[in-house]
Amino acid sequence: MKIAMLARNPNLYSHQRLKEAAEARGHELDIINTLRCFMNIASHRPEIYYHDKKLPHYDAVIPRIGASVTFYGLAVLRQFEMMGVFPLNESVAIARSRDKLRSLQLLARDGIGLPVTTFAHDPKLTDEVVKLAGGAPLVIKLLEGTQGIGVVLADTDRSAKSIIEAFRGANINILVQEFIKEAGGTDIRALVVGGRVVAAMKRKGAEGEFRSNLHRGGSAELIKLSPEERSTAVRAARCMGLNVCGVDMLRSNHGPVVMEVNSSPGLEGIEKATGLDVAGKIIEFIEKNAKEGRTRTRGK
Ligand code: ADP
Ligand code: GLU
Repeated sequence: MKIAMLARNPNLYSHQRLKEAAEARGHELDIINTLRCFMNIASHRPEIYYHDKKLPHYDAVIPRIGASVTFYGLAVLRQFEMMGVFPLNESVAIARSRDKLRSLQLLARDGIGLPVTTFAHDPKLTDEVVKLAGGAPLVIKLLEGTQGIGVVLADTDRSAKSIIEAFRGANINILVQEFIKEAGGTDIRALVVGGRVVAAMKRKGAEGEFRSNLHRGGSAELIKLSPEERSTAVRAARCMGLNVCGVDMLRSNHGPVVMEVNSSPGLEGIEKATGLDVAGKIIEFIEKNAKEGRTRTRGK
């Protein structure tokens, strides 16, 4: 097969591993800098140009679109979809998962366990929002945050209210969430590929840190998921329409709760913690599923 990978930095561990895994299986994988692609939007003959040349035919495309280039990256991916190229994850599903509020609404509709979460526009409703979320301690999150930046713990109702008012006063969108204390600063990342959990790890925050992101100095280890955790991760992936994703969950007193579904999960942490060949599983999924025109939405 001939596979395109949309990515900006070819040297990232995840990107190198996907390339290696594809080549080890006899495929060709070109890393294409998303921002260097340009397109013609002409009836019936969608094309993509790269630098000054028209891109050749690809059997599949692996989107690794960073959060900061979501808008343009998804437009490029959509163009591949219009041309009938099989996307590892569809543009529509990625767009869905990039919006935290929309994701939580969809997960809630499917009855998937979530931390109690509230959201409001009007800062005058702060008292009600705090009450509805169950009162302090509360976690307050920027809707646009990633890698744990913009996730704040408020120990008292009073501090929760002032944090909410500060963000809303600056017109920043936030979620207010029940603090899952019993998770003890750890979370679970389940890597789902094609409707199955292929690897899972537990992440623990640095000493004194409630956020377990590896980017915030956390550490990771192999973990065995309970059947309920496994099925929660698989249902979350299906609900978002993602073939490949990282589902982040907390172990709460009321079972696993999903915090986030990441459509471009990093492979370094999970492969190193588990010793598993996740990149290989992803390429295998493409081998089994990449058929011309086989996308659910074709970008619609
Ligand atoms: P980001 O998308 O920036 O990684 P997350 O929502 O995943 O933000 O939160 C970052 C980390 O903070 C999580 O990995 C988890 O350890 C911790 N955390 C987030 N929400 C909660 C919560 N409601 N209760 C307890 N810990 C939380
Ligand atoms: N670096 C990954 C991304 O940009 C996120 C890392 C993770 O999986 O938490 O999507």
